[in-house]
Amino acid sequence: ADIALYQAKAAGRNAIRFYQSHMNDAAQQHLIIASALRRAVSEQQLDVYYQPKIALDTGRLMGVEALVRWVDPELGSLPPDRFIPVAEETGLIAALDSYVMEKACRQLVSWQAQGVPVTSVAVNLSATEFRGGDIYQRIKSLVERLAIKPGMLTLEITESLMMEPGSDIHDELIRIRELGVGLSIDDFGTGFSSLSYLKRFPVTELKLDRSFVNDLGHDASDRALARAVIQLGATFGLQVVAEGVETRNQADILSQIGCTLAQGYYFAHPMPADQFEHWLAGDGQDYIE
Ligand code: C2E
Ligand code: MG
Ligand code: MG
Ligand code: MG
Repeated sequence: ADIALYQAKAAGRNAIRFYQSHMNDAAQQHLIIASALRRAVSEQQLDVYYQPKIALDTGRLMGVEALVRWVDPELGSLPPDRFIPVAEETGLIAALDSYVMEKACRQLVSWQAQGVPVTSVAVNLSATEFRGGDIYQRIKSLVERLAIKPGMLTLEITESLMMEPGSDIHDELIRIRELGVGLSIDDFGTGFSSLSYLKRFPVTELKLDRSFVNDLGHDASDRALARAVIQLGATFGLQVVAEGVETRNQADILSQIGCTLAQGYYFAHPMPADQFEHWLAGDGQDYIE
């Protein structure tokens, strides 16, 4: 009995020690990422990649989505899912998103000047940006300063934003929309508990989450959900873009069920601007017959 008790205590102690060191690791990693990210943002070491948005019927380029990329000299390359949450928690997100938005809009202006046929750029904005910030003013002055047509810029936001209580966000989105900027609901279908926001918020686009696109080929209920989202979009006069299209079969099914726009590895991965230009000049157009 003594031995059993001893073993249980030992195991308990180990479990606690393991738990603590695990916590410390996570907290420590968070701090390391936060301080490296702070430097990367202030020294403008972040990159922006561009992924084409394609018209399924013609195969034509309809726009690009800007996605942040970060390679730290010591930590290596970190995916946005690792550092965007850290940026949100540490208040770095406003600077990060502003940087990406500025860079993407400048790239758009430069493409326009060079005759590269990109007519629209989408940027991702964290929901935290809409909590009592100056996001409206930042977007307004950016659009004015770079003299871009507001309709050429779309903001991708997640549904969680629509679910936040309070009318501030509602008013903010209305004001932004009144500038003429597009408003897209990213990862649509993953987070909603109510669709009523679609009639209250001035949304222009739904991005069908890739979890519904994955199994379109073999899962009838995913097909039904995708079809429902496409119909919902049509009813509300919203553009619907399918995310994460990786195969020809998925693209074909989406076309059949009335989806007109898509993004995904089947067409192209996100690329740096120069690589995107090569892609566009080369085989960028001929994956759909
Ligand atoms: P998102 O906005 O939904 O972006 C789509 C993600 O799916 C991107 O991941 C993209 O690289 C990836 N993707 C594109 N096509 C495919 C495909 O065919 N298959 C698969 N499996 N994945 C595909 P990424 O770049 O790692 O970004 C992840 C998320 O991080 C984004 O999801 C967005 O929520 C956030 N994010 C990225 N850049 C920014 C930014 O500048 N600001 C903010 N606030 N968030 C950003
Ligand atoms: Mg997005
Ligand atoms: Mg998405
Ligand atoms: Mg996402």
